[in-house]
This record gives sequence, C-alpha cells and structure tokens, in this order.
Amino acid sequence: MTSAATPPRPDATEGARLTVLAGPTAVGKGTVSADVRARYPEVWLSVSATTRPPRPGEVDGVHYLFVDDATFDRMVAEGEFLEWAVVHGRNRYGTPRAAVVERLRAGEPALLEIDLAGARQVRAAMPEARFVFLAPPSWDELVRRLVGRGTEDEEERERRLATARVELAAEPEFDHTIVNDDVRRATDELVTVMGLARR
Ligand code: 5GP
Repeated sequence: MTSAATPPRPDATEGARLTVLAGPTAVGKGTVSADVRARYPEVWLSVSATTRPPRPGEVDGVHYLFVDDATFDRMVAEGEFLEWAVVHGRNRYGTPRAAVVERLRAGEPALLEIDLAGARQVRAAMPEARFVFLAPPSWDELVRRLVGRGTEDEEERERRLATARVELAAEPEFDHTIVNDDVRRATDELVTVMGLARR
C-alpha cells in the first residue's frame, strides 16, 4: 500500500501539545471545556462527531458534528478518527483525526474532552500527550449533578451512573487529577497543566 492509506501521526513534540480531559459522566467536563473556550480562546477544542441526536441548544459543527450511523461507519472505515467509542452503551462518539493533527502541527495547544475508553486509545497512539482526570468533589455530588441536569430519563441515568462507578476507578491511570469543585478554578488548573498562563 502507499503512504496515502496511512493516517497522519503527530511526532512526539507535536503530541505534547495535546491535552486529553476525561472523567465520569456529569462531572462537568462540558462546562469546564466551555469555560476554557470562553476565557482562553487560544486553546483549540476538538469538535467530536457523534451519532447522538442534538439536545436543545446544541449547534451542529460547534458542540458536535451530528452524523448518522452510515456516515460514522464510513469515517471509521476510512481511518478518520484518532479515537472513537460507544459511550454509555448507546451512541458512538469520535475525534476527527485530521483537525487535531493540523492544530498540533501549527504549534497550537489542543484539548480533547472525551470518555475513558477514548482517552486510553489516545494514550496508546500518543503517549506523550497530557492526560487529565476531572473528578467530582464526592460521589453524592456527582449523583446530584446528574439528576439536576435533567437531560436523561431514569433508565439512562442509571446506565450513566454504572459507567461512572467504573470510570472513577481509572483515576490512577491519569497524569493529573483536577477536582471540579468550582468551574473557574478547575479551568485555571487545567490551563496551568497545559502550560498556559492563567488570567
Ligand atoms: P454527551 O452525550 O453528554 O454530550 O457526552 C457523553 C460522553 O461522551 C461524555 O463523557 C463525553 O466526554 C464523551 N465524548 C464526547 N465526545 C467524545 C469523543 O470524541 N470520543 C469519546 N471517546 N468520547 C466522547
């Protein structure tokens, strides 16, 4: 085969500009990454593709690339994902590889907000990246946030809490843990881990 079939792979220096933020459901990964986007626009946040339907207020191409199963299948077959996973036993989510590689090559810091299975795939592909675990202040607080969000029905909540229990046990695999007790503080800690100056 020619090299055209080989997906682009960042070298170690480029990979070191990549930060992966993972953590259990409802811990506030989305809120922290939105705060990073708002306060630190120099940080590029990857837009994942997903087969999940949009929630009210979610914009295609901004929060996610909302794709159908056939499109996701094609992207997998063509090696377009840096990583992908079935999350909560239901929908598929994946990080488009080309955009990440482009940012890292341009010397810009990049942030992925993904699940644990995805973080493990990135670790295998790019061990030089930084791996950050966002933790809840306590288990009770995590349950409170999940219920308070009100975006899932009870069956889905139970499914997500079961996943969260398993995900919390993975914390020691990560390079850094940030406790999300306060969004602003957690964001500041994250950008410090990324080697950026706080504001
Ligand atoms: P939600 O459906 O609530 O937006 O996200 C559900 C979960 O999918 C979150 O834990 C989020 O981190 C994860 N997720 C979002 N994008 C990706 C991705 O590109 N890859 C992987 N592996 N997980 C993702």
